[in-house]
Amino acid sequence: AGPIVEPVSETDEVVEPAPGDEPMVRAEQVWKWFGDSDVLRGIDITVHPRQTLVLLGPSGSGKSTLLRCVNALEKIDSGLLEVDGERVGLRTAADGQLHEMPPAHLCRQRTRIGMVFQRFNLFPHMTALENVALGPRRVLGLPRGQAEAEAERLLTRVGLRDKLDAYPAQLSGGQQQRVAIARALAMKPHLMLFDEPTSALDPELVGEVLDVMKDLARRGMTMIVATHEIGFAKEVADTVAMLDGGVIVESGPPGACLVEPKEERTRAFLSKVL
Ligand code: ADP
Ligand code: MG
Repeated sequence: AGPIVEPVSETDEVVEPAPGDEPMVRAEQVWKWFGDSDVLRGIDITVHPRQTLVLLGPSGSGKSTLLRCVNALEKIDSGLLEVDGERVGLRTAADGQLHEMPPAHLCRQRTRIGMVFQRFNLFPHMTALENVALGPRRVLGLPRGQAEAEAERLLTRVGLRDKLDAYPAQLSGGQQQRVAIARALAMKPHLMLFDEPTSALDPELVGEVLDVMKDLARRGMTMIVATHEIGFAKEVADTVAMLDGGVIVESGPPGACLVEPKEERTRAFLSKVL
């Protein structure tokens, strides 16, 4: 079998980052608690446009919660979180107030962030093409023809040109996940979040989904990826952050973090997943 995705050519469009040199995501001392359990305990991260941050860490370390805060599906309890130039939640030390984004902003914010979960959550009664075209039609108000032409282009890009009319039940897990990625891309996101996108897949289907994600990174998409795929992290990440107990115990370029980790907890984690 050949490569799933066609190589990036000179003429291909590259994802446009937001104007300016502002970070796409800036978190400073972000705290999140549920009841009396602290789930994120002072997270600092910066993700610049066109960069990929890979979040590693054991189950329960806070990876999903952090992604959900970035996507404003959860409110932070303390700290500063700015995504794509807008505040998702802020509590300044100076006034101690939590300044929240108005709901209309939150909605707009979410349409600029694509999220791909472990489970694909495609609509079972819609074809691949319809699943991908739905958001642009409903949320962006694109006419059907235009939304479907764009959906066809994106499904072709993820290697599913011959599956446009297939229903999710007729697709493998890897194919469904690629439809889910195309569906997220159809909203023209500035940022893509992936929460263990290959964890529910049979091992032989993992590669085709990672290939699509690598292609996306090469095209300049800004991404945060929670995964246990160390090979992917080594190849694609600009920065790796190792979470444990709601704290980033180690972060840096993958060459340093994954090859010569300084922290015992990073070494222990890597010895389990490698
Ligand atoms: P990971 O994705 O790294 O496995 P999570 O972010 O899902 O970690 O979870 C971190 C911790 O937060 C876990 O202890 C989990 O039980 C807890 N947690 C996550 N969501 C909630 C919630 N909605 N209510 C209470 N506790 C939660
Ligand atoms: Mg998780």
